[in-house]
Amino acid sequence: MARIELNNLAHQYAPGGDYALQPMQHVWEDGGAYALLGPSGCGKTTLLNIISGLLQPSQGRVMFGERDVTTLPPEQRNIGQVFQFPVIYDTMSVFDNLAFPLRNRKLGEDYVERRVTQIAGMLGLEDVLKRRAKNLTADAKQKISLGRGLVREDVAAVLFDEPLTVIDPHLKWQLRRKLREVHEQLNLTLVYVTHDQTEALTFADKVVVMLAGQVLQVGTPQALFERPEHTFVGYFIGSPGMNFFDCQVEGGEALIEGHRVAVDPAMAQAAGEAGGLLQLGIRPGLIRTAAAGEKGLTLQVENVEDLGDYELVTGYLGSQKLHVRLEESEKIGSDGLEVVFPREHALLYADDRLVGGGK
Ligand code: ATP
Repeated sequence: MARIELNNLAHQYAPGGDYALQPMQHVWEDGGAYALLGPSGCGKTTLLNIISGLLQPSQGRVMFGERDVTTLPPEQRNIGQVFQFPVIYDTMSVFDNLAFPLRNRKLGEDYVERRVTQIAGMLGLEDVLKRRAKNLTADAKQKISLGRGLVREDVAAVLFDEPLTVIDPHLKWQLRRKLREVHEQLNLTLVYVTHDQTEALTFADKVVVMLAGQVLQVGTPQALFERPEHTFVGYFIGSPGMNFFDCQVEGGEALIEGHRVAVDPAMAQAAGEAGGLLQLGIRPGLIRTAAAGEKGLTLQVENVEDLGDYELVTGYLGSQKLHVRLEESEKIGSDGLEVVFPREHALLYADDRLVGGGK
């Protein structure tokens, strides 16, 4: 295992062309589970390929611990890899498939037997070890692929490229949980590429959110939810995402089309100094209805959806659209709704960056 350090790393596919990856400086800790999350084309695969050695960066260094691996080919980097589609030997047994990376390194058969049994047990493959891989379901084949990626103990890191793409939707959540457990037991450094926020949030200790070749935030799922450092992170994480309103700051408050919203005074002051396009962000589930007699903000309600354990209100504050998640006990009509943006949950952004928090 190793920490992964990206030192002033950047990539242009053509000299002088667009940056597929903007210059970045990051350290990913030894034994951590990281997810690279972002929309199509944001640079996830480019970054993963640079880490695995399939692609040489046009700028910067990649370090595994103290070892500079920037120019080393994949086979000299000591990494495990799992791809979108199963990479297995169909004619071999499941056991031999899992044993392959170990036997390749000439490890003793006693050890191979123990380690393969351990990994098969973790992934629920113990009952099919003697079967030929080709006779198994697509899900089981991908589990073998996961096992092959995880079986070596001496790897610097294991890289996963959207490994649950071929898995049946109703089995995906089981395998996500399984991978999480495997990580806790094996203590490997894992890097997992996905465009699916649920996969990223259940799998990773730290999520690396990317957009247009830039890393916008590296944070725990909780930090990404509570303090998105960029408006895109707030919008991309959560279902639905964070609400944003164009606003001004005046007398320590945010002004949204004439509606006054109390915000943290230090944040209001910093926002005033930052200038630029100011926005107020708040999560749909952190808005509450005003108590009897309490002065709130009046929303025009456009639509109320009953989603079982909560109601999703779509409405407007002035001309600006928002979502509010309400408990069922707060059922409302479709005329108007008085709400409060609790001060501790109302965040200010200047030119898309969280004021006073982050880069
Ligand atoms: P996806 O989720 O669709 O795989 P991604 O986040 O992995 O997307 P990349 O495939 O890394 O994104 O692409 C990042 C940028 O680099 C995109 O603008 C893409 O068009 C460009 N790109 C990717 N591969 C090449 C290539 N071989 N030559 C030129 N440009 C490329």
